[in-house]
Amino acid sequence: MNRIRRWSQAGFLILFLAGVALAFGAFVPWSPLAAFIRLDPLLFLGQAVTRLDWPPGLLQVGVLVGVTLFLGRIFCSHVCPLGTTLALVAWLTRAKRGKRFQPPETWRRGKYVVLIALIVAAFWGVNLTHWGAPLSLATRLYALVVWPFVQFVSDNTVLPGLTPPELVRVAHSGALLVLLGGILGLSVLVPRFWCRYLCPAGALLAFLGRWSLVRRGVGEHCTHCGRCAQQCPVGIGEDGAVAAGECLNCGLCVAQCPEEVIGFQTGGQQRAPFWPRRRQALGAALAGTAAAFFAGTGLWAYRGEREKGQPVAETLVRPPGALPEGAFLDRCVRCGACLRACPTNMLHPQWGEQSGLGAFAPLAVARRGPCEARCTACGEVCPTGAIRSLPLTEKLWAKMGTARLLPSKCLAWEWDRSCLVCDEACPFGAIDLRREPGQKVAVPYVLEDRCTGCGACEHACPVQGQAAIQVTPMGALRLDSGSFRQRGRQLGLDISRTHDKDRALSSDPHSAPDSGQLPPGFSS
Ligand code: SF4
Repeated sequence: MNRIRRWSQAGFLILFLAGVALAFGAFVPWSPLAAFIRLDPLLFLGQAVTRLDWPPGLLQVGVLVGVTLFLGRIFCSHVCPLGTTLALVAWLTRAKRGKRFQPPETWRRGKYVVLIALIVAAFWGVNLTHWGAPLSLATRLYALVVWPFVQFVSDNTVLPGLTPPELVRVAHSGALLVLLGGILGLSVLVPRFWCRYLCPAGALLAFLGRWSLVRRGVGEHCTHCGRCAQQCPVGIGEDGAVAAGECLNCGLCVAQCPEEVIGFQTGGQQRAPFWPRRRQALGAALAGTAAAFFAGTGLWAYRGEREKGQPVAETLVRPPGALPEGAFLDRCVRCGACLRACPTNMLHPQWGEQSGLGAFAPLAVARRGPCEARCTACGEVCPTGAIRSLPLTEKLWAKMGTARLLPSKCLAWEWDRSCLVCDEACPFGAIDLRREPGQKVAVPYVLEDRCTGCGACEHACPVQGQAAIQVTPMGALRLDSGSFRQRGRQLGLDISRTHDKDRALSSDPHSAPDSGQLPPGFSS
């Protein structure tokens, strides 16, 4: 039994890590990462309650519920990559732990309290389940913290072919480090502290596992030696008895029992579960309500759908194909898979830019990298459909925003320096260089109907610090269904990569750049 569990844990962890490693640019379509994330019952429940519909993953979660009702919480002991990671941390640090700190049994109620708070917040229309969902946390841990360090260490010499280190993603999200560091650190103190006392997905499975068919049973010849309690990863009582829903059915105690009286059977004994007290449940509900309120939306703020098919001027630039903002924030489980997949490093985890509601959601930061015109990676890897998976012809029309020129910073407008960098960088011919009265050199204009908000201009702008041309979310096309191309045409957009070539061939004197002085750092 132990061997099966070890192989299972190792196999699932390797599969999961392979998913993280492959979820990058061209490898995206083969990544098993989405299948893992859709297995998380808490993420599924959070999305379902928030939007009152069935999110992707109904089949996977249905199978998981069935397995839990039959075999108990074996997902936690055999599959969950975060659980395996925490078990590894506990194993690696076991010698340094000294005398074990044993928290009171009643702390086990904590995970139900967290679960209630998250579900109540979701009921109010604010999905915060990603703060505690193990698959979301595990993906963020490996994709946004571990993987950049692997790249940093490899430095293109140990593991050739890796892109340069992207530690900025980590620095950008200190809260992520604190959260993950806390979870890992507590596991050093008490093995699988998170799984025992805090994990809300574990609470959900413990709730179901209470009625599981196969349970741990102890024969009448038990001598109460306590060997099983010493080995148990979730700390069963010294008397060898286990509370309903707490056992992970890992089988470690079976191998430890000198009398060989422990086994798994239908209808095994269990003690009363650690349900939260009424006052604790009420406090959790109030905390969930307060969290929903303080997440910055106000209660029910995102319940109402915005008018369908309308481009909405949102406050932040999202990846191409992102659902309308309210639906996007509800659907996004903050797994970070899109961030990992983005080959130009344009996508970054959001933090303080928009209350607590959008924390860790992907934000398009054009200054760091442009949205590559031939890339559809973020939509392909997104497991929840928060970013729609679009063919290239549709993705080009999924306008992320519109570039806005800041003449006071522009080398041509303000400093009379001939500069055509944004014009050259734009793959859609959306920059027009014109002669203007009073200007010594040709100056750039943004053709808004041609601009997709890809940020190639902002990324390339040679002005130091803040660019002289910046992508704003103005005019972003955010559709939850239907064709971006069709809708874009109705709105009068004219997006095509051939514009760039047209302009190069153009003999229009207004579009001819001045041949004078080049900007600093450029040579002819
Ligand atoms: S938008 Fe990105 S972070 Fe959110 S669910 Fe999709 S892939 Fe994960």
